[in-house]
Amino acid sequence: MTVKINLPHDNSYEIFIDKLNELYFDTKVVIVTNPTVSGFHLEYLKSKLNAKELSICTIPDGEQYKHMETIESILEHCFTKRLDRKSLLVAFGGGVIGDMTGFAASIYQRGIDFVQIPTTLLSQVDASVGGKTGINNKFGKNLIGAFHQPNAVYIDPSMLKTLPKREFGAGVAEIVKMAVTFNKEFFEWLEQNDINKEENLKIAIQKSVETKAYVVSQDEKEHGIRAALNYGHTFGHVVENETNYNTYLHGEAVGIGMMMANEVSVKLGLMSKEDALRVKRLLEVYDIPTSYKIKDVEDFYEHFFLDKKSLDNKIKFILARGIGDCLITDETSKEDIIKVLKGFSR
Ligand code: NAD
Ligand code: MG
Repeated sequence: MTVKINLPHDNSYEIFIDKLNELYFDTKVVIVTNPTVSGFHLEYLKSKLNAKELSICTIPDGEQYKHMETIESILEHCFTKRLDRKSLLVAFGGGVIGDMTGFAASIYQRGIDFVQIPTTLLSQVDASVGGKTGINNKFGKNLIGAFHQPNAVYIDPSMLKTLPKREFGAGVAEIVKMAVTFNKEFFEWLEQNDINKEENLKIAIQKSVETKAYVVSQDEKEHGIRAALNYGHTFGHVVENETNYNTYLHGEAVGIGMMMANEVSVKLGLMSKEDALRVKRLLEVYDIPTSYKIKDVEDFYEHFFLDKKSLDNKIKFILARGIGDCLITDETSKEDIIKVLKGFSR
């Protein structure tokens, strides 16, 4: 099954969701991957991929390597293999590999093509689609980067069989995010269907990708509606930061963040208590954490201002409006937010 993402300036591309077909590239190709992913799936990919000249660039596994030095090492590989401007990079791994490969592709000789072959649930439903690429530095996460759309995305759900359960849950959190903010029927479907089952998983991936493609097609560079994909993230980022990025996976922190955002929605009369409870129950089915104990409410609030998305000292919140719709606002009062945060400090 195929999802098309329509973008201006020749940037449109297709997202294929299926077992990998034979891939033919009449150019030099570099697969960028890490030892974990290559250990499980590289032979399979190599059996499907035909290139004029193929090499593998293996980088270390982990978010802590998502920085400029690793980019240098990818570029060095490209120069050593004499890639030219027609060559292609293949991102083969989770979101970390995707973000770095895309960024390297965006700057190598002022930009070459790349394709995404995402191998985590989170990267299949979220990170591989939409063209945001980037790395971290000591000032924060994803602060350096470029918009660089892939030429295509190949999503093979069978690769998720080797994914650890917690990583799967982190991906489910992003799926729930798409459903709550944009698609009520999809949310109801998720309540009724177990996506651990293969046939359901494929549908869930497709629905999520369609949602992301729909949003990105309207707002490629996040001037408006694309910000809605940060539902749960404003709070989630603070949770990740307060726990030094070593307690929760990103998707898990987003789960907690959605719970907090929903409490704000309930407080402002945008969402019923029952709908907030439905979101909680759905997250719990996949063992995604839904509670968090805030130590210092004022401190937690101050953390919002470290986010690159808080312009002019205003914090932008994405609030669910019932299930299937959302609101982007920077008009919430500090008082209301503090009251909600206090509910998480007991
Ligand atoms: P990840 O890339 O770190 O992958 C998680 C772990 O799973 C890693 O250890 C990885 O090696 C392993 N793994 C990958 N595929 C596997 C498989 N099939 N079987 C077994 N293990 C496998 O994490 P992630 O959750 O995929 O991505 C998170 C990153 O994505 C973050 O850096 C985040 O900033 C970024 N992101 C980017 C966007 C975007 O729009 N560009 C969106 C969301 C997230
Ligand atoms: Mg996210």
